[in-house]
Amino acid sequence: MDRQQLVFDGYEKQIYSTADPDTVILHFKDDITAYDNIRRAKLTGKGAVNCGISALLFAHLGGKHIATHFIEKISADELLCRKVTPIPIELVVHNYIAGSLADKLDLPEGMKPSTVIYDLRYNSSELGDPLINDSQAVALGIASFSELGEMYDTARKINSCLVKLFDAAGLKFVDMKLQFGKTSDGALIVSDEISPDTCRIWDADTDEKLDKDRFRHDLGNIVDAYGSVYQKLKNILG
Ligand code: 5GP
Repeated sequence: MDRQQLVFDGYEKQIYSTADPDTVILHFKDDITAYDNIRRAKLTGKGAVNCGISALLFAHLGGKHIATHFIEKISADELLCRKVTPIPIELVVHNYIAGSLADKLDLPEGMKPSTVIYDLRYNSSELGDPLINDSQAVALGIASFSELGEMYDTARKINSCLVKLFDAAGLKFVDMKLQFGKTSDGALIVSDEISPDTCRIWDADTDEKLDKDRFRHDLGNIVDAYGSVYQKLKNILG
């Protein structure tokens, strides 16, 4: 399947149409951004590593009957995916306290809460992706209560699957951001990517950060760290 029109040109990814109206090509760029795109860089090889990790994880979830937009990896930095209409919401899952949650609740990074924490964020760069609750999401017409229930249910299944997988790989699955979209036949599926750009992943023994926090906090060796996550996952998933 070949690229046709560029339909979305993001900072870190591009989406191209294909000859099939129900599929798109997701191209992972080497660019990395943080803090509302104020901090930016180009890191050779980052796109390919994130593409590889996303493909492995989506294929693993597919094997567990969890629907995602992933169809197949078609090159080092491209995935063929089902076309979706994006739902402008981010469902963030926290297994450990870190990042904005640590700041907001004044809790130490790495603390394990007594329950997994699920947050909804409204995807709006003008508003700074604010936290919203379920009724606000319904009132804004973003999703129905039943669709939100479906998203939480899928997020729970994905999280329990990935916590087990990362644990077996010697990694701590700290948190993740999920995006959802609707296919032309109305199915609500996971879209975007699942990678060290959208999750926090720590070494299980040392708690070394192996994700985008290396870029956010200027820790260096970003692609090497992402590559070590990829290698550990490949060791488990083949
Ligand atoms: P935080 O609450 O600290 O902002 O983020 C929680 C988790 O969701 C982290 O793994 C973070 O990388 C991810 N996340 C939240 N919002 C975004 C976003 O806008 N872009 C990306 N790439 N990841 C996000």
